[in-house]
Amino acid sequence: MVLGHYAVGLALKRVEPEMSLGMLLLGVNLVDILLGILMLAGIEHARFVPAMAGVYPFDFYDYPYSHSMVGGIVLSLLGFLLYQYWPVIRKSGSRLRPALIFGAAIFSHFLCDIISHRPDLPLFGNGSPRIGLGLFGSMAGSVALEGTLLVLGLYWCQRAVSPSSSIGRPGFIFFITGLVIVYFWTLTDAPLRALHYPASSEMRMAVLLVFGNLLFVGAGILLDASCAKEGPAGSIQ
Ligand SMILES: [Zn+2]
Repeated sequence: MVLGHYAVGLALKRVEPEMSLGMLLLGVNLVDILLGILMLAGIEHARFVPAMAGVYPFDFYDYPYSHSMVGGIVLSLLGFLLYQYWPVIRKSGSRLRPALIFGAAIFSHFLCDIISHRPDLPLFGNGSPRIGLGLFGSMAGSVALEGTLLVLGLYWCQRAVSPSSSIGRPGFIFFITGLVIVYFWTLTDAPLRALHYPASSEMRMAVLLVFGNLLFVGAGILLDASCAKEGPAGSIQ
């Protein structure tokens, strides 16, 4: 899942408006960013299978740390603890609720991936049972579900955004448009081919997972910052 993860991050902004949209987007995409890093480091592996039907024709035969159920739980716990105790995050009042939401955002990735992935998500490790409902096998089904989730996430998030913010609305439209364009672009594996990135499809995907997601996390941070300056109480902050 791609847009679906972002939809969860956007919806959580409504649940906890005090949290940075960038942090929420980082949370929901942390598992994929970790997968990209571990693939680039040669620790986790996927295999490009051109004949595979649907979207993202990759056989994820070795990603026990980033995409197992236990891996998701451990990463969520780490995220919760880091958010709760990291000295740089200065927030007034208790951090417990936002820390719990950050941890939940991280684990939501595994739950969303169950819907979209082929049965390749291990419960514990490579030798354990693998789950996945396989929506990636259908291009139309994947695009329909991801699009629907994004619209729902946007709807929820917009309720946390002040209509009077002059930067918030155009910024949001720009952000979502960019996200949708990049999503459809990745369905064709074109972005890094266009840049003549000299690597296998597996490495192209790993680079996209890391830098594509970080790009939109950064955009979420900027969007938050601009809205906080511009809008009154109740706007994105
Ligand atoms: Zn994933």
